Amino acid sequence: ASPLVSENLITSFETDTNLIFLRSNENPYGPSPLARKAFVDNANISNRYNWDVATQLISDLAKKNSVKDENILLGAGSTEILDLVAKFVSLGKGHEPKVTGSANYVIADPSYDYWTVTLDNLGLTKNKVPLTTDKKINLQAMQEAVNNDTKLVYICNPNNPTGTICEREALVEFVTKISQNTIVLIDEAYLDFTKQQSLSNIVNDKKNIIIVKTFSKMYGLAGARIGYAIADKTIIDNLTNLQSNTNNSVSVLSKLAAIASLKDDKFVSNCYLLNENVRQYTISELKKLNCECISSNTNFIYFSLSNYNKDYFKLLENNNIEGGRIYEEQGKWTRITIGKMDEMKKFIQAIQ
Ligand code: PLP
Repeated sequence: ASPLVSENLITSFETDTNLIFLRSNENPYGPSPLARKAFVDNANISNRYNWDVATQLISDLAKKNSVKDENILLGAGSTEILDLVAKFVSLGKGHEPKVTGSANYVIADPSYDYWTVTLDNLGLTKNKVPLTTDKKINLQAMQEAVNNDTKLVYICNPNNPTGTICEREALVEFVTKISQNTIVLIDEAYLDFTKQQSLSNIVNDKKNIIIVKTFSKMYGLAGARIGYAIADKTIIDNLTNLQSNTNNSVSVLSKLAAIASLKDDKFVSNCYLLNENVRQYTISELKKLNCECISSNTNFIYFSLSNYNKDYFKLLENNNIEGGRIYEEQGKWTRITIGKMDEMKKFIQAIQ
């Protein structure tokens, strides 16, 4: 058992279904003990709106990211923020569709693109830029793909599903080269699993950059739905105009849990180390099964089934394991979330 989580805190849902969840890059150890306490202790104030809690969380996040309160916007998961950004780049001042035929957005392929349906629905053309052969985002090619009609360029750093990371200096240089008329959206959902510093400190210099962050991954609050944007005040004001319940689409309990989580450095550093350890084990076992693995900076692993001869997905299903899917047909690449050590041992046993 993990030193972080007493077994009796594992939800009845999880024990009842008896499934091993290795599909959605959640934190298997979370929420943090302080966040759990915050949920329980504050359940009885759920009858009130408690708007002030948002103010407190924004202030804590501004301090953590070395920006001002005016640079932060809260959302129900980072998905809500991504959706607001999609609307912001596609709609005019009166929220009317303003997209013309050649308007487009640039995204690496494969990358995290569930949220781009809003951009597609609002009429932007998707311009997919292939990764390098070692599965990294090709910043040079991304830059070359941006033209006068590019409303948005999206960089997931580290990238989902590949787990690769862009060098920080290269990213800063990339941002500098992109025209002020194009929004650069940097998704740092998995940056907490690395030692790289956030780009949040440059939002006041670079007024076309939006950083999106989430409590769903390292902080173990995926079901609590809490994420946020960091950007220049003008952009935050524009996003605010599109969010009817500004900063309060997130429940007060989730916000209090987030406030508590930010104080739990021990939990974060423990999860970081546990993830590193279990990741190392899983990669070495996958390699023994002839699966090429991409070096991971995250809580998931991208690997190829090209030289694997059994029916991988059937074996997962037979063993009650929720795994991933195929991303790049040709190379049979797939992704697996890093769970706890005992879960990954069961995973390896299942596919051996
Ligand atoms: N961004 C990335 C890169 C993700 O992988 C995910 C979820 O898997 C999200 C954003 C959305 O997360 P949430 O809405 O839970 O914050």
